[in-house]
Amino acid sequence: MVSRVIPVDPFDLVIFGGTGDLARRKILPGLFRRYCAGQMPPEARIIGAARADIDDAAYREMVRDAINEFSDEGSVDADKLTSFIADLSYVAIDARGETGWRQLVTHMRRGVVRAFYFSVAPSLFGDLAERLNNHGLTDNNSRIVVEKPFGRDLASARQLNQDLAAFFDESQIYRIDHYLGKETVQNLMAVRFGNMLFEPLWNSQFVDHIQITVAETVGVGGRGEYYDKSGAMRDMVQNHLMQLLCLIAMEPPARFDPDAVRDEKLKVIRALEPVEPHHIIRGQYDADPTDPVENPSYREGAENPSSKTESFIAMKTHIANWRWAGTPFYLRTGKRLSARSSEISVMFKDTPHSIFGEEAGRHRNVLSIRLQPNEGMQLGVTIKEPGPGGMRLIDVPLDMSFADALGPDGGENVDAYERLIMDVIRGNQTLFMRGDEVEAAWTWTDPIIEGWTKRGDVPKPYDSHSAGPDASTQLMRRDGREWREVTP
Ligand code: NAD
Repeated sequence: MVSRVIPVDPFDLVIFGGTGDLARRKILPGLFRRYCAGQMPPEARIIGAARADIDDAAYREMVRDAINEFSDEGSVDADKLTSFIADLSYVAIDARGETGWRQLVTHMRRGVVRAFYFSVAPSLFGDLAERLNNHGLTDNNSRIVVEKPFGRDLASARQLNQDLAAFFDESQIYRIDHYLGKETVQNLMAVRFGNMLFEPLWNSQFVDHIQITVAETVGVGGRGEYYDKSGAMRDMVQNHLMQLLCLIAMEPPARFDPDAVRDEKLKVIRALEPVEPHHIIRGQYDADPTDPVENPSYREGAENPSSKTESFIAMKTHIANWRWAGTPFYLRTGKRLSARSSEISVMFKDTPHSIFGEEAGRHRNVLSIRLQPNEGMQLGVTIKEPGPGGMRLIDVPLDMSFADALGPDGGENVDAYERLIMDVIRGNQTLFMRGDEVEAAWTWTDPIIEGWTKRGDVPKPYDSHSAGPDASTQLMRRDGREWREVTP
């Protein structure tokens, strides 16, 4: 199967923070892959803008090194890389001062899409927006891309929204949640709303519960200090897990357009019930006793011996609407767990009656949507165990591994960042969070975090490379359920 690549319109893309970690690891390698795929028109221009006082030549070499370092091994065509970087330019700029802004003005062309990627600390978003406006750098065809974290609570998220709204219309603001750029996440919508098969069953009458797990094997690494101010709730649940929950739970939008989809997601967030304290388990990983130097405890990594920040969360929540009343949603995410795996599992109910008798065994249908690794979907169906010996039932997977089903071309591995940046240029906001969605998510999250602070809640320790604290298993068992195993 040959994938169709439709070139986007000519654009000027300014990457503020163009020398930073995110730009080097994700944004620039992603742009290079789109360039190689033929999606970037020859007139496209990319301009790095950051604090470092370097010239175009030094920036180009930095980008060459970054792309070589952060691309899949053997995937970089050296000639293409040379031609890609030849068109890059760089402006040393100060988001908080006047340095560099006049020079940036001279780089921008008229009549092309202008995109400004704010790959800098959120404390600079307002400064950048203001200076872009003051220097006449924006027009109706301009857009800005802002990175997470979008606030650390409702008040700060509101403030950020106001800072940006002072200079940009909501239709120009692209808040990135890279989970939404994942192929499987979009496939989730295709499967739900492109088939007759699933949607009639997609409700509390037929679904027993839903599990969303985002498990990482790595600890906080060098980001310990930053992470300690955030924790799993702010870093993962408020944004990524919430977005996945919305796509699973939302009503069918009338059209696949940005506002229709985001309106439905917003309704889900607003219908989330407050979470009872005993329905949330927080954890913090211990050192790995087999290798405590490479894998120190959370507190050592965060350089905060009395830290109460969680590196793990498991919770049960409900959506108070007709479709989902009575169906629990279990969310779980954590660092230093036994495997790296992100999966959404829709666990259907048992058949109401077994005509084969209990001795034949009973299995539930499970639709699992795998985000990483090995993106794909699997539907567990019950069949007869082959061979003699009467009717015994077994569970077999109907497996839809995208790479297997579609072949190497159709299964093209387009990274979330690549897709999202091209969507920015196309002006398609469907896979970006709207300001009101973000605020609604904080409205739900804030009381949970405030409750921990008020109660002096301390996260439960858990073994490195385990499934998290035992209490997480118990959260499920109390309801007669089990987490799906975290497998790589
Ligand atoms: P970084 O510290 O590696 O880079 C920061 C960049 O901002 C540098 O290029 C620096 O020159 C520039 N900068 C700092 N102060 C400036 C100023 N006054 N004027 C102009 N430029 C200035 O940070 P990062 O890891 O690349 O993260 C950038 C943003 O992306 C942050 O908001 C972060 O939360 C977010 N983010 C990062 C990652 C990641 O994996 N690194 C993932 C998700 C979100």
